[in-house]
Amino acid sequence: PWAAALMDGCFLRLLDYLALLPLPSSTQSTPTTFTMKVLAILYEGGEAARQEPRLLGTVQNKLGLESYLKSLGHELVDADTFVYLLHSKEGADSDFQKHIVDAEVLITTPFHPGYLTRELVEKAKNLKLCITAGVGSDHIDLNAAVDHRIQVLEVSGSNVVSVAEHVVMSILLLVRNYNPAHEMIERGDWQVSEIARNAFDLEGKVVGTIGAGRIGYRVLQRLKPFDCKELLYYDYASLPPAAAEAVNARRVEDLKDFVSQCDVVTVNCPLHEGTRGLVNAELLKHFKKGAWLVNTARGAICDKDAVAEALKSGQLNGYSGDVWNVQPAPKDHVWRTVKNPLGGGNGMVPHYSGTTLDAQKRYADGARKILQNYIEGKEQDAQNIIIGLGKYETTAYGQR
Ligand code: NAD
Repeated sequence: PWAAALMDGCFLRLLDYLALLPLPSSTQSTPTTFTMKVLAILYEGGEAARQEPRLLGTVQNKLGLESYLKSLGHELVDADTFVYLLHSKEGADSDFQKHIVDAEVLITTPFHPGYLTRELVEKAKNLKLCITAGVGSDHIDLNAAVDHRIQVLEVSGSNVVSVAEHVVMSILLLVRNYNPAHEMIERGDWQVSEIARNAFDLEGKVVGTIGAGRIGYRVLQRLKPFDCKELLYYDYASLPPAAAEAVNARRVEDLKDFVSQCDVVTVNCPLHEGTRGLVNAELLKHFKKGAWLVNTARGAICDKDAVAEALKSGQLNGYSGDVWNVQPAPKDHVWRTVKNPLGGGNGMVPHYSGTTLDAQKRYADGARKILQNYIEGKEQDAQNIIIGLGKYETTAYGQR
């Protein structure tokens, strides 16, 4: 079927391995073999991935797993599949839905998320481990994973600097009204007043992060030299006093109170039951008029239509980020084009802040390590475990 799919011109890559793996040493008496199926949902990298082997998160370059598996001596065959690397992920006929039923390990990236719903979890009778090559595992129904004793691990920290840099860039391009200025130049126009009327300095502004974990804290660190009026954070977990002091950040415990003090709000918390739709029409009313909002956390934390309305009305002066409530975002998604009343304020890009080439190397190495630990029966790095056997191990996905 895979050959037929290729001939059909589907964006499908199937790598079939016969796994001749020794069992973990603790359970091994005489040499024996077992097969397991690993299903990886990666994005189609096209010509770019063929030209650039460091684009590891693509179906073409397969997170570097192919060479890893070959180096272990696994044999490529067309039966008893060990690894499937697939692109299509939506709908009942998708490769994802077909192959999840007997996969033991699922590898996904947040950039091209394979949405593992409770319904799919219930069909995935053999599934034991989900590996997120990156950070953010909300595309997996985590409560269903708990109920079905499926472990969920991610490569914590792998792209947090990449995202923090993108956040700082996004804040600057909104506050300084950069995108309309550049578009003006490309059009061949030159009207400084049209741009300068809505351009400001970041110095002297109040910037606050919702979530002060690895990314949120790195954003605060990077903002410190800009001499903002104040750096604030909202998080149910308080920063250690020394860490807060190092960036001179003040915690605000009430969310409405927090947003009402900020000129810039940046969202850096995971998506879970407590954060879905957190930035909605009601909360936006409490923002300072003309505030800027940057969301590189997850699209669904911000209400799509409420944000669009707030930008259109000028309640927000700008919205920027790289995450969308559905990915890939539909062509007519309002966030692609919505502008403030002066025709600017949109800094949206596709989901790539955490997938720089530097980040891809780190999360590919990390995903391979998690797979290797699993295969060899070794202990996993505790900071990577989101869901352990039947329970949340992280404290970042809501207070439970
Ligand atoms: P982290 O676990 O280090 O920090 C998350 C912080 O959010 C924690 O301090 C937690 O207490 C806090 N939090 C959770 N719920 C909250 C709530 N309701 N209100 C306020 N704070 C809350 O995670 P991280 O490495 O900083 O990553 C954060 C998120 O960023 C990820 O879960 C992911 O969704 C997103 N992310 C996006 C990209 C990208 O490419 N755009 C890349 C990496 C991560």
